[in-house]
Amino acid sequence: MHYFLNNLNINNYRTNSYLIVLVLSCLLLTSYSTQISASSSEDLNYMKKRQKMVQLIEDDVKRTSVYLDKEALDPKVMQAMNTIPRHKFVPEGWRDDAYQNNPLPIGHGQTISQPYIVAIMTDLLKLSEHDKVLEIGTGSGYQAAILANLVDQVYSIEIIEPLGLRAAQLFKQLDYKNISSKVGDGYYGWEEHAPFDAIIVTAAASHIPHLLIEQLKPGGHMMIPVGSHFITQQLLLVTKAEDGHITIRQILPVRFVPLTGDH
Ligand code: SAM
Repeated sequence: MHYFLNNLNINNYRTNSYLIVLVLSCLLLTSYSTQISASSSEDLNYMKKRQKMVQLIEDDVKRTSVYLDKEALDPKVMQAMNTIPRHKFVPEGWRDDAYQNNPLPIGHGQTISQPYIVAIMTDLLKLSEHDKVLEIGTGSGYQAAILANLVDQVYSIEIIEPLGLRAAQLFKQLDYKNISSKVGDGYYGWEEHAPFDAIIVTAAASHIPHLLIEQLKPGGHMMIPVGSHFITQQLLLVTKAEDGHITIRQILPVRFVPLTGDH
């Protein structure tokens, strides 16, 4: 009897334990699935906004086709614009506006560039998948992420330390293994990794830095806005021919924050 009672107690204890484990598992599963559905509905919302942003870029490209000399951009570039989560590169308070076709503040008086500008600058670089690209002006890291989606290796330099460090942390968090970034003055390029197939400068310079031309591979392209902070700047496409000859094509008027530094 005693044995039987003990056995009963043990069985009750086991049944209770199973019940507790079952209830806890159900609770955990419910909260996990609520979290998943919350994050997937958020992702879906951003995805829809991103698709609209891509349409706006396509419209702007058509409207400015006389400057660009094309009616549409490379589908691979548009695919990257449709994939990279721009909302993760803007400060939290601006996330709802992340997919408007506008520049946005990122702190320290700097901006994340307008998506249309990011798309045309990327397109005009005529990138190939095994390219090595240098970006001057990491800022939020968004342009670097777009490039990283299209080429083998991206090097990016930011002069404002907190921005450079924040972007580096984000690249790590989002697992961009093909972006190397550093804090420094991009006016001098990144000699150690030169030459580059393409160079993109995302701040307005007063002239084209000669070291950047030197670090561009023959056959390579550079996009750079040139002009004063106070008057209209021109977005330039600089091409280095195989024989080293440089040609410059003026694309369209733009407005960028200035390229700073002691040079
Ligand atoms: N590409 C950035 C993005 O996707 O967010 C946008 C960059 S914002 C328009 C220009 C950036 O260039 C700023 O973050 C600014 O601090 C940086 N910058 C300005 N002068 C620089 C320099 N000499 N070297 C490196 N970065 C510079």
